[in-house]
Amino acid sequence: MTVTRFAPSPTGYLHVGNLRTALFNYLIARKNGGTFVLRLDDTDPERSRPEYADAIKQDLEWLGLDWDRVETQSSRLDRYAEAADKLREINRFYEAWETPVELDLKRKKQLNMGKPPVYDRAALELSAAEKEALRAERGSGVWRFKLDHARINWADGIMGEISIDAASVSDPVLIRGDGQVLYTIASVVDDTDMGITHVVRGSDHVTNTATQIQIIEALGGAVPNFAHHSLLTGPQGEALSKRLGTLALRDLRENGVEPLALLSHMARIGSSDPIELRGSMEELVEGFDLSRFGTAPTKFDVDDLYPLTAKHLHAQEVSTVAADLDALGVPTAQQEAFWTVARENITTRHDIAQWWTLCHDGAEPDIDPDDAEFVAEALTLLPPMPFTETSWSDWTSAVKEKSGRKGRGLFMPLRKALTGMQHGPDMGQLMPLLQVVRAKS
Ligand code: GLU
Repeated sequence: MTVTRFAPSPTGYLHVGNLRTALFNYLIARKNGGTFVLRLDDTDPERSRPEYADAIKQDLEWLGLDWDRVETQSSRLDRYAEAADKLREINRFYEAWETPVELDLKRKKQLNMGKPPVYDRAALELSAAEKEALRAERGSGVWRFKLDHARINWADGIMGEISIDAASVSDPVLIRGDGQVLYTIASVVDDTDMGITHVVRGSDHVTNTATQIQIIEALGGAVPNFAHHSLLTGPQGEALSKRLGTLALRDLRENGVEPLALLSHMARIGSSDPIELRGSMEELVEGFDLSRFGTAPTKFDVDDLYPLTAKHLHAQEVSTVAADLDALGVPTAQQEAFWTVARENITTRHDIAQWWTLCHDGAEPDIDPDDAEFVAEALTLLPPMPFTETSWSDWTSAVKEKSGRKGRGLFMPLRKALTGMQHGPDMGQLMPLLQVVRAKS
C-alpha cells in the first residue's frame, strides 16, 4: 500500500515551489491506488496560523488535489516526547548548552582552519557536575541526536544513489531549549506512525534525509523511499526563493490561471517529457513518471501558464463557464452561442467579460478618416436588428457590390466600425449576438 504525504507548515500561503512537492506526492498516491495524507507541520506556535492552514486547504481544493486524511503535528506532541525518551534511553540523545553566538564562533574557527563547520560534540564531554552548572546557569539546553559516524546511503527516486558521510553533518537539534519539538524529529515520528512509504520533497532536504534515516532506524521504524526534486529557478536560472512569495497559488488563481493548466505544467517541467495540456486529473495521474525527472534546477516562467490556460479554456464546453456567464448576465438561451464566439478569443476567464460587453453594449467604433465615407455608406446597408447568422455575409456582399471593395479593404473597416477592434471573433458568429451598433448613430 502506497502512502504519501504533503507536509506544509501553515506559516504562509502555498506557492509554486510547494505545489511541485504536493503534486508529486499526490500523483504517486493516486497512481498506485494509495493514500495521500495532508500533514500540517505546525509545531512552531509563533509562526503557525489557522488561517494559513485553511488557505492551504482551499488552494489544494481549488486544484483538485484531494487528500484522504489530515494530520496536525500540534496534536501529536505526546508521541514526539515518547520518541525523545526512547532516544535518551538508547543514548542517542544529548543535551547541549552552547548559545548561537558560541556556535557561530566555533564554526568560524573551524572554517579558518580549513575544517568543515560541524558541531564538535563538546557537550558529550561534559561531566555531570558541569551539566548541572550549565543547567543552573542557562536553563534547559537543546537536545541533539547523536549521529552514528558511518556513511548513510539511499537510492533516491530522482537523484539516484546517494551516500553521505554522517561525520560531515552536525548532530541535529531535535528539541529546542524552550522545549519546542523541531520538524526533524516530528516528521520522522509521523512518517513512521503513519506508514508513509514514499517521501518526495525538495533537494534542500537532502541533508535532513540523511539524518532522518538514522533517526528512523534508531527508533526502529521503516525507512520510506525518498526522492528529492530539483528546486525551481526563474526563467533565466535566477534563484526563485525570494520571489516565491509573489508566486502564491492564490495569486495565480486571482490572475485567472486554470488549475489543469497549472497542474499540467508543474507535472512536467524538469522532466524529459514534453509539456502537454491534460484534460483531466486522471490523465495527469496516468502520464506521471517520477523517474523522468532530472536533478538540474528547473526553470519556471509564470508566463508559460497563460497559453496553457487559453488552450484549456478553448476546449471547454459552456457548462464549465456557466457560473461565469450567469454572473455576467448572459441569458441562458444565448450562453452556448456566446461561449462558442468568446472562448477562442480569451486567455483567462477574466477576458470573457469584455466580449459580453461588446455584445451587450456595442463598441466605440474605430473608423479611419480615409474610410469614413465608405463606412457611413455601408451602415445604410446594414440589415435590420436582430441580426442573424447570415447578417454579416448579407451585409458584406451588399457593401461589396455597392462599393467595389473586397478582401481586407472591405472587411476590416466594417469589423472596426462594429467592434472597435482589428481582431476578434468570427464576425458571422458574432453578429447574431450583437445587440447594439454604436457606429450607426
Ligand atoms: N514542513 C516541512 C517543509 O515544509 C516538510 C518537509 C518534508 O516534506 O518533510 O519543509
